[in-house]
Amino acid sequence: MILVMKNGALEDSIKKTSQQIQDWGHKVTISKGEHQTVIGIIGDKQDLLGKPLQTLPEVEKVLEVSAPYKKASREFKPNDTVIEVEGIKIGGGHRSIIAGPCSVDTYDNLIKTAKAVKKAGATMLRGGAFKPRTSPYSFQGLGVEGLRILHEVGKKYQMPVVSELTSIEHIDLFLKYVDIIQIGARNMQNFHLLKAIGKTNKPILLKRGFSNTIEEWLMSAEYILSEGNPNVILCERGIRTFEPYTRNTLDISTIPIIKKVSHLPIIIDPSHAAGKWDYVESMSLASIAAGADGLMIEVHHDPENAWSDGAQSLKPNKFEEAMKKIEIISNTVGRKLAKQ
Ligand code: PEP
Ligand code: MN
Repeated sequence: MILVMKNGALEDSIKKTSQQIQDWGHKVTISKGEHQTVIGIIGDKQDLLGKPLQTLPEVEKVLEVSAPYKKASREFKPNDTVIEVEGIKIGGGHRSIIAGPCSVDTYDNLIKTAKAVKKAGATMLRGGAFKPRTSPYSFQGLGVEGLRILHEVGKKYQMPVVSELTSIEHIDLFLKYVDIIQIGARNMQNFHLLKAIGKTNKPILLKRGFSNTIEEWLMSAEYILSEGNPNVILCERGIRTFEPYTRNTLDISTIPIIKKVSHLPIIIDPSHAAGKWDYVESMSLASIAAGADGLMIEVHHDPENAWSDGAQSLKPNKFEEAMKKIEIISNTVGRKLAKQ
């Protein structure tokens, strides 16, 4: 349920109204707009319907959230969520570019890539350490050692780091070594994992499963939010269609849809969508033009010898060229890129 407060409602009324709801045993989320405040309530609907919500101080309307996802919906929280990682913001008009290799391979390779992406304007560094590979015979990632390398290189170049978590047993390691926990496409509906990370306070990058609808994706976000972690960034990475020219089909329409129905930031991963490096730049530009809050791009200083996803990784010079255009598009559509 949501309570829409009267235009210009007094701070004291907002406080009294939300306190009363909490005294009835329900949790509230207060979302303050320029003129209007919305109080979102999570709780048993029957119990709430029995309460005199309409008579609380300065309540204008009592509405039900129509979407099955509640905390993730824009009805529940009209203002954009802005997630801040080490001073770098994503969402609400702040854009950020995450770049780095698919998987951390050697310290030397990561140093070279990190230096190059930082110079080109990336604000965060990515690198997989526990890789969810289709084949058990493919490189599975360096594990803890990969996280340590990523952490060290991130510190050296002052870039927050992003890496994919695949199992509950590694949560403590990730809390220690990474700044944003990525949940990959294959684990988007691993509900136990989602609940577990929902109990932490770390920013979560939640990728869309390649065969999942937008609603299923938002319901997965709801699993994290409902456990108390409000720091969710959505990431579209392409969905499976009949088209074999690309690895997946980038669903650009998710950007305006998510912006309409949810307050959560959305970024695009053009690399896993394209599967080939030479389509990455144009898909990045289209995503920024469509209003994405950022991008996550695979870059490797020597893609031919990368241990995973070399074919879709940009070389540093190509990334630099793309970044120049991304900045132009970003300025053109009225939003600035985060600077280091
Ligand atoms: C990745 O980002 O390294 C990855 C495996 O992506 P996805 O889960 O989108 O396939
Ligand atoms: Mn990859």
